[in-house]
Amino acid sequence: MELKIGVIGTGAIGKTHIERITNKLKGGKITAVSDANIENGKKVAQKYNARFEESGEALISADDVDAVIVTSWDQTHEKYVLEAIKNKKYVFCEKPLAPDQEGCKRIIKEEMAGGKKLVQVGFMRRYDAGYKQLKKLIENKTYGEPLMLHCAHRNPSVDESYTTPMAVENSMIHEIDVLRWLLGEDYSTVEVVFAKKTKYAHENLQDPQIMILTTKSGVRIDVEAFVNCHYGYDIKCEVACEEGIINLPEPSNPMVRTDASRITPICGDWSERFVDAYNEEFQQWINATLEDRVDGPTAWDGYVGSITAAAASKARDTKSVVKINIEECPEFYKG
Ligand code: NAP
Repeated sequence: MELKIGVIGTGAIGKTHIERITNKLKGGKITAVSDANIENGKKVAQKYNARFEESGEALISADDVDAVIVTSWDQTHEKYVLEAIKNKKYVFCEKPLAPDQEGCKRIIKEEMAGGKKLVQVGFMRRYDAGYKQLKKLIENKTYGEPLMLHCAHRNPSVDESYTTPMAVENSMIHEIDVLRWLLGEDYSTVEVVFAKKTKYAHENLQDPQIMILTTKSGVRIDVEAFVNCHYGYDIKCEVACEEGIINLPEPSNPMVRTDASRITPICGDWSERFVDAYNEEFQQWINATLEDRVDGPTAWDGYVGSITAAAASKARDTKSVVKINIEECPEFYKG
């Protein structure tokens, strides 16, 4: 059986998902695409032999669309996800589920009212082989309880459109989700502090920043966001446990001896670093959707991510430690 998929948003990441589903993965076919940028959307439709739909709503209700992928602008995610729920169709929404927690809550309310989980959020780090290895070691308590995590999220450079709040909302949002998933518990407080500003950061960007989270059981986490690090795209996660330190494996690249140096290449950007995780994420989404279930990050995970990011933004703006209040997860989303 083949899953007929409609994609809303044929920009940078939408195109890569269409490409992977068409040429790398099994079980899915892109039947329709839609984009506010009609010229680009039509080009993509033609390239992948899909229909172009003028509106996202028409795409969602179309008979040749079993499931929907939302890769349009952040501000449009909520309306398309709600429309998919209304049409009782499975929907994969790139992060964020909605730009604010109220939007996430409206999605949760409608999904629960429909009585069936339909929504998956694009937190692809959970599918990365290295993070999965860390999770296994943490869950099995191989080295005792985790006590502290030291993490980094580094990009070589960003353009002028990347501003101070985006370090939390666009970059460290991935750590917010994956670290909560790794540890199996929610956060209780957050603080964001600035390091000395790099000369490469433009006027509207404070870079680097450090986000400090505490979990409900007391694990302390520091995450460095350094988006003008000038050497590559580098993701670090070190888990200090009672009887050992576990490090996220580095992507495997050959080490070269040359010019009196040893050199191991580092990835240039996120799409290269997490390509296998994206492939795994979408293959599992197609498989689960064909089996009539959701088994990835849910709308609840999107909501918790959004609450935590909002608290971190407040902490940054007020220069204070902010408490994170997350309600009990409803039964509907457990398991
Ligand atoms: P992008 O290149 O700007 O593409 C977004 C596309 O959506 C553009 O073609 C845009 O049209 C179109 N669009 C805007 N409003 C629309 C609407 N109402 N209906 C249909 N299409 C609309 O952005 P991107 O980098 O691909 O990012 C897309 C989404 O993926 C964002 O939410 C982003 O946060 C998320 N993302 C996630 C990851 C991850 O690591 N998981 C990585 C990258 C991006 P115009 O050309 O007219 O603007």
